[in-house]
This record gives sequence, structure tokens and C-alpha cells, in this order.
Amino acid sequence: MLNAAKYAKMLAKYAPQSIVCPHCGMQTAISNNSYSFCNFCEQRIDLGKSAPEHERRARASFAPIASLLKANKPDEAVAEAGKLLKGNTDPEQLYLLGVFYSGASWSKYANRDYGLHGFMEANAVSVRNSLELTSKAKECFYKVIKLVGGAQAGNAAADAQLLFIKFMSCVRLRRKTDAMRALEELKQMDRQNALVGYAYAVYAVETGARDTDKVLGGMLEINEINSFYYLARHLALQKRMGEAALLLRKLGDIATLSQASELLEKVCSAQEASEL
Ligand SMILES: [Zn+2]
Repeated sequence: MLNAAKYAKMLAKYAPQSIVCPHCGMQTAISNNSYSFCNFCEQRIDLGKSAPEHERRARASFAPIASLLKANKPDEAVAEAGKLLKGNTDPEQLYLLGVFYSGASWSKYANRDYGLHGFMEANAVSVRNSLELTSKAKECFYKVIKLVGGAQAGNAAADAQLLFIKFMSCVRLRRKTDAMRALEELKQMDRQNALVGYAYAVYAVETGARDTDKVLGGMLEINEINSFYYLARHLALQKRMGEAALLLRKLGDIATLSQASELLEKVCSAQEASEL
């Protein structure tokens, strides 16, 4: 059984450095290993290596959205994303848009204000906008799954990269069987095991696999930042809400993960509900 208090202590002492992700252009905290996974797009960053051509294109097309997010202009970022989404058939770009819309949906939802008087119409608008953004996110992830099929980019690393985002899209859509198939395809292609380890840990958490503690433990030991979020999710799925909340708060002190803030609110609501 993983010891949440031990990992919370590790997080409290942790001061990761922050870099710009070569895949999405967002700022991300990284571990002190030779590689790390982005807090925003969850793609692998190999320190000191430049991104291949097709990923540079995706980053360039996402750059206006990334800079609006950094400037804290969420509504303008949504408008810009709408332009990029139109007619887009590039799986890398669609994946980034899916991740963006998921986060934007959560921010809209989090912005509702129960201090409002009357019928709280402003909140109804926030919730409606949030749902619209969620369906945009789903649309993007479904497109990624459809586009990354048999016809691949033609070189092993690029193919593995595409299969990884296909796998992550299945996970975001909570389609476990499709995620398992994508993971099997990824295993065939990812000969250097650069992406399978992370993908399998995510899969284990989401499906409650028997070896979840073991695979997650391996990632936590090397301080992979996103693994602290997945540990919290693993704990929350086992109804260990107090431990999950503790970890998510400590994680929030050192890194910005939209999925982690969303989970923290759900965990807190579940805790409040159990106190009623
Ligand atoms: Zn990224």
C-alpha cells in the first residue's frame, strides 16, 4: 500500500524547475531526470533534445492559445482555439485542443459563485459554457482516435508519439477498452519503452489494476510530477479522500495541473457530502 503521507512530505520538500514544453508551449514543472512529462499536455519531454518537425508544427499552431492562457485571457483563448479547430485534421493539434478545452471547461465550472443572490443566472451561464467546452474536448479526442489509425507517420518514434496521444485521448474519454487496445499498439511501436511505462501507470490507475501500487511507486520514486496527481486519483478511487486531498494541495504548491485542481474540488465535495 502506497504511503500518501510519505509522498506528501516528499512534495513539500520538492522545488522543481520549470521550463516551456516543446510540444505545447505551456510552462511546466519538471523532475530532475533526463526526461519528464508535461503538466499540461502530458507528452514526454527529453531535456536537451529538440522536438521533431511534426511536433514543432503543432506547438507553433497552438502558440497563440498558449500565450493567451499565460496572459490569463481564457475567453480570448477559447475564441482562438475555435479558429484552430475549424477543419483541423492534424492529430497532434487536435490533441492539444482537447487538453485545452478540458481545462477551459473546468475553469468555467470552477468560476461559478454561490455567493450570488437571486436565481444565480450567471452561474447557469458558467455551467452551460462549461458543458459546451466539455463537448468540444470530447470532439477533439474522438477525432484523434479516428485519425491515428493504420496510416502512421512512417517512423517508429513519430508513430509511438501518435499512439501515445491516441491512448491518452481514450483515457480522457474514459474508454477503457479502446485505451487497452491503444496501449497494446503502443507497446508494439515504442521499442525503447519511452512512453509505455507512463501510459501503463495511467492505465493501471484508471482500471484499478492489481499492480497499480508497484508501477506508480516506480514513477513516484523518480519524482515524476504527474505521478503525484495519479497517486491522488488512485487514492480517491479507493475512497481515501483525506490522503488524496493532502497530496493534491501539496502538488498545487509546486505545479499547475488542471486535472489536479478539478480532482481536488471533487474530493472536497465528496468529503463534505460524507459529513452531512
Ligand atoms: Zn506540453
